[in-house]
Amino acid sequence: MTAILPGLELAGVSHTFGKKTVIQGLDLIVPGGSLTCLLGPSGCGKTTVLRLAAGLETLQVGQIKINDVCVADVHNAIPPETRNVGLMFQDYALFPHLTVLRNVSFGLNSLSADSRDVMAKEALARVGMLDAAGFYPHMLSGGEQQRVALARAAAPAPGVMLLDEPFSGLDTELRASLRQDTLRLIKETGATTLMVTHDPMEAMLVADNLVLMNGGRVVQAGLPMDLYRQPKTPFCARFLGEAIEYIGFVRSGEVITPLGSVPAENAKEGDEVVVLVRPEALNLRPESEGQGIVATVGDRRDLGLQTKLELRLELDDEPVHVNLSAQNLPLTGSKVAVFLDFSMVFVFPVRDR
Ligand code: ATP
Repeated sequence: MTAILPGLELAGVSHTFGKKTVIQGLDLIVPGGSLTCLLGPSGCGKTTVLRLAAGLETLQVGQIKINDVCVADVHNAIPPETRNVGLMFQDYALFPHLTVLRNVSFGLNSLSADSRDVMAKEALARVGMLDAAGFYPHMLSGGEQQRVALARAAAPAPGVMLLDEPFSGLDTELRASLRQDTLRLIKETGATTLMVTHDPMEAMLVADNLVLMNGGRVVQAGLPMDLYRQPKTPFCARFLGEAIEYIGFVRSGEVITPLGSVPAENAKEGDEVVVLVRPEALNLRPESEGQGIVATVGDRRDLGLQTKLELRLELDDEPVHVNLSAQNLPLTGSKVAVFLDFSMVFVFPVRDR
């Protein structure tokens, strides 16, 4: 098998605005041809990373490479227009005074006028917007503007596409369908794509790779399922999905929680630890079936695909609320035995909290 080369690489990148450090020694690799999602809470530096990669922000520390060619370090920088990068931001940033066709052909100015029009029309046809070539942006819906913005970013066939929350302004239904169409189109172009989002569900749904940032650093990177199933920090565990949390102490390699004892192999004897339990770790069986932790089912809320279940545990005053998708869930008032699937239970020293 041939190794996949990095399409975009940032090494040792730091960035400050005035006295504020927003990126701190960041290393990030986007494998060539992949769709990688850059995920993290608001203000952690995601857009700044994109702007640095595009050359819209001057690099202060570190190095940026595209397809193994240095495009910026502390001494030199290739200007944005020759980096072979396509950009799409959440507000689409279409020029209001230009037609759809002119918006798309704008970035193709190295070509003759005729070739520009041909390529712009091809790009519009790919996103199903050729019929709107003569319209102005204000005559289009948000979803249509998004398609035009995509056509504009993709028209020069860039090697790298940088997308900043491209679907955030759209309603749920449109968002889902446009996301699917857009990402299919981008995949077809074979471009290396880095897409910023703060929505973990969106990232898990579309990404080949995930890079999770916090406080200007990469905290974990890898396959989406690995970050979900094998988080290296409580932050990653919490950010990627729901978790029930307990604090306890390690005794004889285990920590006792209201949901039962949990192995704590990676923590030291006597350590104070935080235990995070994914809802799907809870396995509910009839009380008669065994020695699990006994719980009484409280409120049940049908949420469509899932049911939110309240469990009142014998060993804790605080009820647990879990969204479960299993069928035949127990009825309110019934008693159940709770067993834990430890592969979905994470234990970390409290100092990492
Ligand atoms: P969000 O998800 O809210 O868009 P983000 O993770 O993309 O956030 P950035 O937009 O990269 O975060 O901003 C990181 C930090 O840098 C923020 O505190 C922001 O206020 C600050 N910042 C960004 N651009 C500038 C600027 N041009 N001047 C000063 N501070 C800035």
